[in-house]
Amino acid sequence: MTEETTTREIKTNGYVIETNDLWRVYKSGAQEVQALRGVELQIEPGHFVALVGRSGSGKTTLLNILGGLDEPTRGEVRVFGQELSHMTEAKRTRWRREQVGFIFQSFGLLPTLSAYENVELMPRIAGMRARERKERSLYCLDLVGLSKWMDHRPYEMSGGQQQRVAIARALANKPKLILADEPTGELDTSTAREILTLFQKVVSDEKVTMLMVSHDSLVDEYVDQVLRLRDGQIVKE
Ligand code: ADP
Ligand code: MG
Repeated sequence: MTEETTTREIKTNGYVIETNDLWRVYKSGAQEVQALRGVELQIEPGHFVALVGRSGSGKTTLLNILGGLDEPTRGEVRVFGQELSHMTEAKRTRWRREQVGFIFQSFGLLPTLSAYENVELMPRIAGMRARERKERSLYCLDLVGLSKWMDHRPYEMSGGQQQRVAIARALANKPKLILADEPTGELDTSTAREILTLFQKVVSDEKVTMLMVSHDSLVDEYVDQVLRLRDGQIVKE
């Protein structure tokens, strides 16, 4: 980490993400699953962080709560100094749109839209002005190396290219935080490495913090910090 990337625009006690005794219990009928059992974590600004752990250990649940897609059963989550559980649903939706970019394993692109249109849709929904929206979308496609592919639809592209479009889309609203859930899960090893290298570039160029769920031992070489979940708790490395 360089000095510059660790000391940027942060309003809190140094962390961009902080949780205290975070629990998420799923109830379905008489069944109860304790997906998160008192998660404590801190993430520093500008860090590229991997969240690892076995299937079912609670990674997706944690990511969804940190991104305001789900609410904890108990405990506190602060992201950029905002206590998420105190927000109304509407406020949280707006907060999410402005501050967080999501990337998924299966890319999640709209099949009938071109790469450019997929990227541009996000700032459109957020209400960005047309000219800025266009500039930003072109910039993001350039950042991921896909300017020449902007008029192509997802099915005309490789998995790696589709994930690049999804990365450009996640960046389009200038988020401060990127959350990625197994973004390399569908990619072969060399393409996965390309995407991980791109993530490093995105974190440093765009001055974002990134939390990435991964199964892959490959990620250790690329990230600043590894958080390990086991049975809903963070294990100290
Ligand atoms: P991971 O992403 O690490 O595979 P998840 O967060 O998806 O783990 O799941 C953690 C645990 O919570 C698992 O036991 C899973 O079956 C359970 N779980 C996840 N989502 C739900 C849900 N919507 N309803 C009930 N149980 C769930
Ligand atoms: Mg998962």
